[in-house]
Order: sequence, then C-alpha cells, then structure tokens
Amino acid sequence: MLPSDGCPCGSGLPLAECCGRHHAGEPAPTPQALMRSRYSAFALNLTDYLLASWHPDTRPASLLPDETTRWVALEILESSEEVDEGVVHFRATFREGRRFFVLEERSRFLRERGRWFYRDGDSTIARLKPGRNDPCPCGRPRKFKSCCGRG
Ligand SMILES: [Zn+2]
Ligand SMILES: [Zn+2]
Repeated sequence: MLPSDGCPCGSGLPLAECCGRHHAGEPAPTPQALMRSRYSAFALNLTDYLLASWHPDTRPASLLPDETTRWVALEILESSEEVDEGVVHFRATFREGRRFFVLEERSRFLRERGRWFYRDGDSTIARLKPGRNDPCPCGRPRKFKSCCGRG
C-alpha cells in the first residue's frame, strides 16, 4: 500500500477517522471531503465507493480495480461551494512503476438529497521528472535519489 501511515489523502488522521468514515457510509459534508474520500478510494481501489459517489448522469457503467497505478500524494489547491454546487481544484501525484505523473483537475460536484456527488472535471496529466537531488514526489522527506529513485 502507501508509504505513509494514516489516511491516503494525507490529512495525517487515521483512515478510520478520515475518509474511512465516508467509505463506511457517512455522507461527506463538503465537496472537498468527498474529493478527498474519492482520492483515498482510488488509492485503496474501492471501486464500489467510487461508483456510489459519482453522479448518475456521468457515472461509468463499471470500474475495474487498477493495480498498476499508485496514488502517492494529494494537494488541494482550492475548493468552494455555493448552495448545491461545488468545485475542487487539486493536484494528485501517482506513480506507475518508476514513472511519476501529476494529475491536475478542477472537479465539479453536485449535492442531491443532502449528498455530494462527483459530476465531472477538467484535467491534465503531466509527467514528473524529478532530479536526483530533488525532494521525492512520494512526499517522504527525502531526496529522490535516496527514496523512490533509488537503484
Ligand atoms: Zn482522508
Ligand atoms: Zn519516494
């Protein structure tokens, strides 16, 4: 799984006190909380939760667990909500084998009957090419060469 202890979303809280509550059925109170819980669900391959938190208008028919992508860091850049609509702008770092990428997305959320749903988003994916002496993109406080870039 992930190198860090605690919730994959990086909140510093244990999973059960953070995104795990929403995975277990407690409604996410804000678009940002839903976004974080969906990030954690991607990291943990909780495809049922991803589908359940996706708005029916845009929800895919099915999702396959993805064993090759490892989500390593989440950074929320901005989030806002107005009545029953929300927007969260975030950056998520993931890794496939030894290659790192950053997904940047502005996601849109809708609230219906008291529950937030992910609707859609505009995203870009960029390859990260950390230098040997750069901080490791996995978020651990080490240089890339002595962390994920080793060997
Ligand atoms: Zn979390
Ligand atoms: Zn690393």
